[in-house]
Amino acid sequence: MVPPAKPSSIVSLLVVDDNIVQRMQVVALCRELGVEMIYEAASGAEALELLSLLVLPPDVAIVDLEMPGMDGVELIELLHERQLAIPLVVVSSREVVLINTVEAMARNLGIPVVAGIRKPVQREALAAAFEGWNREQAEPGVAADRAPQVEIDSRDLAAAIESGAIDVHYQPKVDMTQGVVCGVEALARWTHPTLGEIRPDRFVELAEHEGLIHALTMTVLRQAFGVAARWNAAGMRLSMAVNLSPLLLEDPTLVRELSTLLEEHGLEARQIVLEITESSVVDCMGVALGVLARLRLKGFGLSIDDYGTGFSSMQQLARIPFSELKIDRAFVRGAHQRTNLRVILQSALDMSRQLGLVTVAEGIETLADWQLVRDFGCGVGQGFLISAAMPADRLPDWIERHAPRLFQLGTAC
Ligand code: C2E
Ligand code: MG
Ligand code: MG
Repeated sequence: MVPPAKPSSIVSLLVVDDNIVQRMQVVALCRELGVEMIYEAASGAEALELLSLLVLPPDVAIVDLEMPGMDGVELIELLHERQLAIPLVVVSSREVVLINTVEAMARNLGIPVVAGIRKPVQREALAAAFEGWNREQAEPGVAADRAPQVEIDSRDLAAAIESGAIDVHYQPKVDMTQGVVCGVEALARWTHPTLGEIRPDRFVELAEHEGLIHALTMTVLRQAFGVAARWNAAGMRLSMAVNLSPLLLEDPTLVRELSTLLEEHGLEARQIVLEITESSVVDCMGVALGVLARLRLKGFGLSIDDYGTGFSSMQQLARIPFSELKIDRAFVRGAHQRTNLRVILQSALDMSRQLGLVTVAEGIETLADWQLVRDFGCGVGQGFLISAAMPADRLPDWIERHAPRLFQLGTAC
């Protein structure tokens, strides 16, 4: 006996599948589960046409990935382009990792994902997906928890930037074959007068929302360039990486500002690496591409940060003149347990090498992580195994004390 369906918040639904038998089976299951209005499309094109006719989009779309002509991925991309963020159930008879990838892609595009289900679609799987979706909608707190709580007063941040209370710490980057520090990443630090230390991703996001990102970046750049100049003068020449918000790439005056700042500190652009997060460069077109191209022409290093967390990475590598690829720590940490991640990590490193990019692995926490990425041919390593970020004046002494350990890491097999 089929157990009675629970009331569902999913009232209308679209099933897109070229295989009529499988489509009908899914439609029947959805009916059993209490969905009242079910639309069907035998192809991506048909789905788009249907959606253009509907006044209200369906609550959920069940999309098959393998379809002749427009495949499911293309359909999802087109849904995104047309700003149709219909919650998706991704279905396919192909391997789970492929389904997971498409789920991640959709989420990155801002399209909610109800579930990914392997074909043939079973009633239990669909029921669980719908039930989970109902719960998530009923308890928005679950999603809200994941969102950054912005309870910091932006006036406090503005005051901190203005008064010089934003500090910069420096995390060493190590040449993995030689075991020597070759550069640092400048990371902003802020201790709020009453709330204590605030994580940079939180206040950077606040700065981006509140129009303070330019001022915040300038204070970080000034401090970082000052430190690089001081270290140069002391004979300690290290590459200096600074994170750049993609919002700044929309302003063509950035190139001039950076060049002026370099001159003021007597630095060369090739000593500076500008790190731009992968997911954030996705939309960069027009002005931003021009800014990136000019920065590269001036000789600045351009690094694609958190590589692997965004999407259409290959496309970005092809159209943006990056000089460095920085692999996200999720790949480094997960690579031991998961073959898929290991394969991705290895191929990203191979590709990067073939493109002549400097490869950096971030988030190396253990010796095992270190060995793995080094065996895969990664050039530069960064992470807590080496050191967390520290104030500028502690670094020279730290390098001296840790040189033997780093050398051992470099020569260890
Ligand atoms: P990111 O650019 O990817 O920087 C690396 C982050 O990973 C840093 O976090 C660093 O402390 C942390 N990290 C380094 N090694 C390890 C490790 O082995 N394990 C773990 N779990 N974490 C490690 P932090 O300093 O909290 O910064 C977070 C993010 O905030 C940065 O990520 C960057 O996107 C942003 N950020 C920091 N400073 C600035 C800034 O001046 N401007 C902009 N636009 N963004 C900044
Ligand atoms: Mg970074
Ligand atoms: Mg990163």
